[in-house]
Amino acid sequence: MGAPLSTTIAQGRAFMQLIDGRSVDALSGARIDVLCPSDGKVFASIPASGAADVDLAVKAARRAFEDGPWSRMPAVERGRCLTRLFHLVEKHGDELAALEARDTGKPARQGKTDVAGTMRYYEFYGGAADKIHGDTIPFLEGFTALTLREPHGVVAGIIPWNYPLQILARVVGAALAMGNTLVVKPAEDASLTAIRIAELALEAGVPPGVFNVITGYGRDAGATLSAHPEVDYVTFTGSPLTGTAIQQAAAVNNRGVTMELGGKSPQIVFADANIEAALPVLVNAIIQNGGQTCSAGSRVLIEKPIYERVATALAERFSALVAGPHEADRDLGALINAKQRDRVAGMVAAAEEAGATVLARGSIDPDAPSGGFYQPPVLFGSVDPTIQLAQDEVFGPVLALLPFDDEADALRLANGTEFGLVASVWTLDGARQHRVAKRVRAGQVFVNGYGAGGGIELPFGGFKKSGHGREKGFEALFDMSATKTIVFNHG
Ligand code: NAD
Repeated sequence: MGAPLSTTIAQGRAFMQLIDGRSVDALSGARIDVLCPSDGKVFASIPASGAADVDLAVKAARRAFEDGPWSRMPAVERGRCLTRLFHLVEKHGDELAALEARDTGKPARQGKTDVAGTMRYYEFYGGAADKIHGDTIPFLEGFTALTLREPHGVVAGIIPWNYPLQILARVVGAALAMGNTLVVKPAEDASLTAIRIAELALEAGVPPGVFNVITGYGRDAGATLSAHPEVDYVTFTGSPLTGTAIQQAAAVNNRGVTMELGGKSPQIVFADANIEAALPVLVNAIIQNGGQTCSAGSRVLIEKPIYERVATALAERFSALVAGPHEADRDLGALINAKQRDRVAGMVAAAEEAGATVLARGSIDPDAPSGGFYQPPVLFGSVDPTIQLAQDEVFGPVLALLPFDDEADALRLANGTEFGLVASVWTLDGARQHRVAKRVRAGQVFVNGYGAGGGIELPFGGFKKSGHGREKGFEALFDMSATKTIVFNHG
C-alpha cells in the first residue's frame, strides 16, 4: 500500500504562478520553499515574484478588463463560468482538500470542510451574478434617472494563509461576478491551492488575464501589488499592521479598499444559558484551525453564578484536546510556521507572567513528527481584562475566560477591546438576546450559537480595528462594484 494522498500530493513539484492564462516562473527564477507544517519539511516550491512580475500580472488584468469580453459579458455568462468552477472544485475536491491540509497543516477533515465552503462561494456567486442590479429613481419631470452597478476594474486580492481556499473564493466569487479582473497574491506560506483554483478557472471558461495569481513575499510582491497605480481596488485579509500599510499604499493612488483584520471575539454566557449546548461550541470556536481564525471565539465571558461550573467543564474538555499531524485528523493540527508557533507560545508565557492562571492544557500527539509546529491548546481562567491575552489577537488555540457581574458589565467587557468582528450571546431570555445583540459592537452576532466561518450568504466584516467593508453574501457585490447614475432628459 502506498503513502496516503495527502502526504504524497505535490511532492517535489515546482509550482508556477498564473499570468495571462499562462503558467510562468518569476522573471528572476527565484523560488520559495514550501514546508508542510506537520513535519517542517520542504515538499514543493513556488515562484518568488518581484515588482516586474507584478507589473506583468496587473497589465494582463488591465488588458483583460479594457478589451473584454469579461467586463462586457452578460452577467449570466459570468455566473455560468463561476458555476462551472463550482463543479470543477467538486470534481477535484479530494486533491484540493489534501493539498490544503498538507500546505497548512490543518486536519484532513478541515481541508474537506474548506473545500465544501469553497464550493458554496462559487455556487452562490455564480447564481448571484445576474441578480444584482441598480434602481430607477423618481426625479424631475421630463427626466428618467437610473443607476447601474459597474465593476471597479482591476482588483488586487491579498490573501492570508489560514483559509487559503475559502478566503480566495470569497474574493474571486464576488469580484468576478461583478465583472472585475483580478490579481491575487496568496500568502507565501500557503499558495498552492490558489494556483490550482486559477488553473481550474481557466478550464471553467474564465478568459486568460481575468484571474491572475502571483506568488511571492508580502514585502515584495504584496507591497508592489497594493501600491500599483493600475490597480483600482484592493481587498485584504490579514494582520492589522499589514492592513495599515496596504491602506497607506492604496491612499497614495486614492483607491478603495476592503479590510478584514481579525478580532478578539467574545462569547457571552449568561447564567440562564443552555450550558450543555454551549460547551462544545465554545471549545470548537477557539480550536478550529488551531485558533488561526479571524473570527475565533477567543474570549468567553461568563456570568459569575455559573463561572466555576463552566470553567471546570471547559477545563475537562481542554485537557483532552490533542494537536497532531494533518493525516492523523486530531482535534487540531500544527500551526502554520515556526514564527507563528513561537509567537503563540510567547503570548502564553507573557500571560502567565502577567499572573493569568492556566486552568488546562491539551497535549501534542506523541507520534507527531518532531519538526512540526505544534502548540497544544491552553485555557486561562479569571483573566484580567487589561492584559495582552485579553486584548490582542493570539491567532492560536488559547482561550481566555472572564467572569462578569451583570449585563452592563458583560457589554463593557465585550466592547472593551480595539476589535469588533464577531460575538455570541448565550441566554434563553428573548429580550436580553435582542438587547445584547444590538449593543455589542461586532459585524456578526450569533445568539445561542457560533459559526462565523459558514454562512456564505451572510455579510461578514468588522467594526473598529477589525476592518471595514463587507465580504460574503450580496453585500460583497456592493463592495466589488461602484454605482453609476445616468440621467436622461426627455423633456
Ligand atoms: P500578514 O497580514 O502580514 O500577511 C497576510 C498577507 O499579506 C500575506 O499574503 C502576505 O504576503 C501579505 N503581506 C505581508 N506584508 C505585506 C505588505 N507590506 N504589503 C502587501 N501585502 C503584504 O500576516 P502574517 O505575517 O502572515 O501573520 C501575522 C499575524 O497576522 C498573525 O499572527 C495573526 O495574528 C494575523 N493574521 C490574521 C489573519 C486574519 O484572517 N485576520 C490572517 C493571517 C494572519
